[in-house]
Amino acid sequence: SGSFSRRQAIDAVTGFALPDCVTDEYLGDLFGENVFSTSVMKARLPKIVFKKLMATIDNGAPMDPTIADVVASAMKDWAIEKGASHYAHVFYPLTGFTAEKHDSFLEPDSSGASLAEFAGKTLLQGEPDASSFPNGGLRGTFEARGYTGWDVTSPAYILENPNGNTLCIPTIFISWTGEALDKKTPLLRSQQAMSKQASRLLKLFGHIDVDTVVSYAGAEQEYFLIDEHFYYARPDLMTTNRTLFGAKPSKGQEFDDHYFGAIPDRVLAFMIELDRELFKQGIPAKTRHNEVAPGQFEIAPVFERSVLAHDHQQLMMTTMKRVAEKYGMKCLLHEKPFAGVNGSGKHVNFSLGNNNQGNLLNPGDTPHDNMQFLTFCGAIIRAVHLHGGLLRAAVASASNDHRLGANEAPPAIISIFLGDQLMDVFEQIAKGGATGSKQAGVIELGVDTLPPLKADPGDRNRTSPFAFTGNRFEYRAPGSNQSISDPMVAINTILADSLDYISTELEGLLSDGMELGDAVQKVLQEIFIDHGAVVFNGNGYSDEWQAEAAARGLKNLRTTVDAVTEYTSPEVVEMFEKYGVLSARELKAREDVIFEYYALTLLVEAKESSEIATTMILPAAVRYQGELAGTAAALKAAGIEAPVPMLAEVTEAIATLTSSMATLDKAIADFHGENELEESQYALETLIPAMSDVRDAVDSLETMVADDLWPLPTYNEMLTIL
Ligand code: ADP
Ligand code: MG
Repeated sequence: SGSFSRRQAIDAVTGFALPDCVTDEYLGDLFGENVFSTSVMKARLPKIVFKKLMATIDNGAPMDPTIADVVASAMKDWAIEKGASHYAHVFYPLTGFTAEKHDSFLEPDSSGASLAEFAGKTLLQGEPDASSFPNGGLRGTFEARGYTGWDVTSPAYILENPNGNTLCIPTIFISWTGEALDKKTPLLRSQQAMSKQASRLLKLFGHIDVDTVVSYAGAEQEYFLIDEHFYYARPDLMTTNRTLFGAKPSKGQEFDDHYFGAIPDRVLAFMIELDRELFKQGIPAKTRHNEVAPGQFEIAPVFERSVLAHDHQQLMMTTMKRVAEKYGMKCLLHEKPFAGVNGSGKHVNFSLGNNNQGNLLNPGDTPHDNMQFLTFCGAIIRAVHLHGGLLRAAVASASNDHRLGANEAPPAIISIFLGDQLMDVFEQIAKGGATGSKQAGVIELGVDTLPPLKADPGDRNRTSPFAFTGNRFEYRAPGSNQSISDPMVAINTILADSLDYISTELEGLLSDGMELGDAVQKVLQEIFIDHGAVVFNGNGYSDEWQAEAAARGLKNLRTTVDAVTEYTSPEVVEMFEKYGVLSARELKAREDVIFEYYALTLLVEAKESSEIATTMILPAAVRYQGELAGTAAALKAAGIEAPVPMLAEVTEAIATLTSSMATLDKAIADFHGENELEESQYALETLIPAMSDVRDAVDSLETMVADDLWPLPTYNEMLTIL
């Protein structure tokens, strides 16, 4: 494959010099520079058009198509002033990645090239030739067309390239029947469904000025950086984005000396440029630091409306990869690029709110505010208890399975951490009503104020997949390489369901003449009694928790194969259809695509394992064996009766390797399944164990074969030489 040798890689890495990158631009001046932002639109659009557009963006008013021509024309002028020669509809297919189709603003004709029309309809709708995007059977090949449609709620922006810029227009991607072929459409639909139910509940708390309630998301993105020379010397990384082999380094992350340690110069230079690029796109990059594993880092932008945060997150991932290359590095977003060291997650922090009522997950200062806060928390408790399986399905992938349930990061059991104080409040609510009369020390809703809740990071439970952190919840199961869409769609939808349930209950009680405080007390009491089992403040990594969670009836879906069918369970389908988020067909399509990708990922990994073992590892091991055998023969010829150390061990290890390789090759040859699910089951039950045996044999040879013969850069080299 023309790959780099390990030696060449090391020499090239140690010779790396940082590029000169002097700039005197002030970061703050760059923010949003490349965005067709509210202020740009305000300056460039007729007042009436601007007002109509903002009504759609801020309050979800229906888009008025008659203004599209005016907006398109202003957008084109702005883009051309910014050096754009092309425009692209950007969309988010079910692969989880970002796709774009570029078209020129110029139209060559006999007299040269003239500026093409960029009409409203071009802005509103595109027709990428998208027949090769996964659709889970939603489009027959006879009607392979998918359409992109402008999503006004996410601003257009300029993508810079030294050779010319592109105007990027965020879009949704649907089939001709209107079915969602992407990750954006259900996000918009779920946001709308949640907003409707949350607004209904807020009205019961006396708010008359509720236009909309949005979910906010702030995603903490973990990633690895390695020198590109190592990457190109590792065909496994190049093909599968993770190392399929590699013995554990003698010094891993045991010392914890990397976490929050000083950032290496080259990495810092990357981070600074990354922040600058993100700022230009209006992405509020905020924190950057080392993570737990050597070579691992984190970036977190300030939270935004989750729909926008989704688009920004996708753009951030591509920007990270692009900028890393300028510094001679590869940015690895895979959840587990290196076995035995920490994997990478994408913790999704979320809250609900709007401009008038603020953050609804903020415990307030008054008894009334507190009661409202507790009601929203109650909705979350109920939602997560009823739909933990769906939340697990929403983060399922072959790569994320290396984290979840694999005794690191959060376990696959979805539980909620409330913290002692909030837990205590809910326990009081559960008790208070049970006795029917107020007891000393028991909170009376609507009368008593909550004690101030601590939001001390030191006090946080790092093992919980779903944790309350003072004024938001943090969903920690999403993987570093995943779109935040699936988890946010799940969260918005299960909240819509629980907020609907609570509103209906409260409306009934209030119309029977009950006081709001008593009604809330009654509903929350029932919720905590029925759904409190999902709350767990202890150690999520412990074996006792596995047993206790089972006793509590919580699901423990360890693998993607166990988890993904949750998408088509009757309760889930009914809920998604009820709130108009995804139809049964759309859900089934998603399930099929996840399985298809799961099986494909593992098949590619299996083939790559076999190839590397055959063409790189076995030859190195046999060469070393030959060397040892030659030494043995020479010693014997010289009349020296001494055993050659290692010869027997290496010979045995080679035998183990070749037999495991034979099993793997057979497993690959036998790969089959009637459908995506069966193929996935086969991959889980047959390919994974076969690959794992080959890996064990290779990793043990790595500790025996002479270092100068070993072909692959080692974990030590890749993780510590930056
Ligand atoms: P920590 O390391 O303490 O978890 P970070 O600063 O790394 O915190 O990241 C926390 C993430 O949570 C950031 O993206 C931040 O913007 C986001 N966040 C903070 N408050 C909220 C909120 N109310 N709703 C949603 N996300 C939030
Ligand atoms: Mg953090």
